[in-house]
Amino acid sequence: MTTTALETVAHWIGGERLHDASRYGEVTDPATGAVTRRVAFAGAADVDRAVAAATAGFEAWSAQSLTKRANVLFKFRELLAANAGELARVITAEHGKTVDDARGEVQRGLEVVEFACGAAHLLKGDKSESVATGVDSHSLRQPLGVAVGITPFNFPAMVPMWMFPLALACGNAFILKPSEKDPSASLLIAEWLAEAGLPTGAFNVVHGDKEAVDALLTHPGVASVSFVGSTPIARYIYETATSHGKRVQALGGAKNHAVVMPDADVEIAADAIASAAYGSAGQRCMAISAAVAVGPAGDALAEALEARVDAVRIGPGAEEGSQMGPLVTGASRERVLGAIEAGVGEGAELRRDGRGVSVAGHEDGFWVGPTLFDRVTPEMTIYRDEIFGPVLIVLRADTFEEALELVNQNPYGNGAAIFTADGRTAREFEERAQVGMVGVNVPIPVPMAYYSFGGWKQSLFGDLHVHGREGVLFYTRGKVVTERWPEQARGADYGFPAHK
Ligand code: NAD
Repeated sequence: MTTTALETVAHWIGGERLHDASRYGEVTDPATGAVTRRVAFAGAADVDRAVAAATAGFEAWSAQSLTKRANVLFKFRELLAANAGELARVITAEHGKTVDDARGEVQRGLEVVEFACGAAHLLKGDKSESVATGVDSHSLRQPLGVAVGITPFNFPAMVPMWMFPLALACGNAFILKPSEKDPSASLLIAEWLAEAGLPTGAFNVVHGDKEAVDALLTHPGVASVSFVGSTPIARYIYETATSHGKRVQALGGAKNHAVVMPDADVEIAADAIASAAYGSAGQRCMAISAAVAVGPAGDALAEALEARVDAVRIGPGAEEGSQMGPLVTGASRERVLGAIEAGVGEGAELRRDGRGVSVAGHEDGFWVGPTLFDRVTPEMTIYRDEIFGPVLIVLRADTFEEALELVNQNPYGNGAAIFTADGRTAREFEERAQVGMVGVNVPIPVPMAYYSFGGWKQSLFGDLHVHGREGVLFYTRGKVVTERWPEQARGADYGFPAHK
C-alpha cells in the first residue's frame, strides 16, 4: 500500500474536516507495525485559519449563559459515555494499549467533563457590601480568549480532557494539537462537541509537529497554552510561549518512585508496583519506574516482582485477555531496547529481560516484554533517564531517610508512593516528599477531577496544575469591581482614595 492511498486524518477547523497540509505524517498500528493512516500536518497558514475560527467561536461561546454552556457539556458527557467503547477501540488501534486500559482513560477524562458541568458553581465570584460608606466590591472571573492544548501520545483522550472541558466551561475557545502518533481520538471528540451544540469554531483540532506547535506558540491571537509531554519540550514550550505573552502550564516527564518499607505487605506492594510499572507498557506519566526497597524488603520484593513479570500476558491491545500491549512506535521500541542495553552495560542486575519478546502472528509489532533490573544505583542512566517503557528498576536503601533522599534529589517531581503499615512513616513521607502527587499504599496517585493534577520540579513549568480549582484559575482572569452610586457631587479629593 502506498502512503497516498491511505485515509487521511484531517484537521477540524471551524466545524469542518480540512485535509489541507504542507506535509503528512504516518500513523501505525503498534500491534502489527503496519502504516494504517496518514495525518495532515498543519503549517502556519492552517494555524492562522484555526485561530481565526477560534476567535469567532470565542465571540459566540463566551456570550452564552452559564446554563447554556453547562447544557452543552452535559450533552457532550452523554455522547462520550454512550460512545466510550468506540473511542477506546480507536485509541487502542493507534496507541496499542489494551481496550480495557483505553476505557479507563476515557472514564478518567469523562470525570473532568462532569466536573466542568458545574461551571456555574465554579465561576461564582465574591461580593462585599459596604466596603466603605455606599461602596460595594465584587470579583469576577472572565475567560482568556483562545486557549491552546498540546498533548502527548500516551493518553490521546484523557489528557486533552484535562484541558478543554474546563477551558470551555470558563467560556474560552480551544485549539487542540494532539500527538501526531495517535491523532484520531481528537476528531471523534470534535464531532461529539459539535453534536452537543457547541458553537462552530469554539473547538478546533490542528495536527502536526514542531511547525504547527511553533505557529501556535507565537500567534498573537492565542491567549494561553497548556502542554503535556516530555521535559525538554515542556521547557521549550514554556520559554517560547511565555516570551510571546501567553499564560502557560507545561507538564513534563517523570521518574516516579515507590518506596517499600520493611513493614509493608510485600504481596500487596508487588501487585501494585507491577501494575503501575507495566500497565500500558510503562507509557504513563504516573507509571512507577523506580522501586526503592528499604532494608530487608529488597530480596522479597524483587522475587515477588519476578513472579508478576512471569505472569504478564503480552498481546495486541484489541485481543481479549491481553494485559500489556506493544510500544507506540518502532522508534520508541528501539529507544527502550537501547536503555535496557545501557543498564546491562552499566552493571545493573537484569532479573527479567524483555528484549526478544515476540507475539505469534504479530511478529512486526513494537513489542518489548516487561523488564526488571535490581541493584540499580543512582549514577546509572536507567535511573537518571525517563525510559517510558516496561522497564522497572529496583534500588536498595538502608533507611527511610535514604529512600526519601532519592525521591527528593531526583530532578523530576511528578508522583511518588510509599508502601508501609505504619501511619507515622506514611505521614512523614507525605509531608516531606518533593513531588506534586503522593500515594500511600496507592501506586498511581492520579487525583480525581475535582483536585488538581501536576508535578513539581522538572515535571512542571508554570504555576498552575491542570483541572480542579487550579484549572479554573488557569482558564480565567480575575477582575474586581468597586462601585458607588452617589446622590450628589462632593468635590474633588486629591489624596489617595482610602475608603471609609
Ligand atoms: P513529546 O514531548 O514528544 O510530545 C508532546 C507534544 O509535543 C506532541 O503533541 C508533539 O507533537 C509535540 N512536540 C514534540 N516535539 C516537539 C518539538 N520539538 N517542538 C514542538 N513541539 C513538539 O511527548 P510524547 O512522547 O508524546 O509523550 C510522552 C512524554 O509525555 C513522557 O515524557 C511523559 O512523561 C510525558 N507525560 C507527562 C505527563 C504529566 O502529567 N506530567 C502526562 C503524560 C505524558
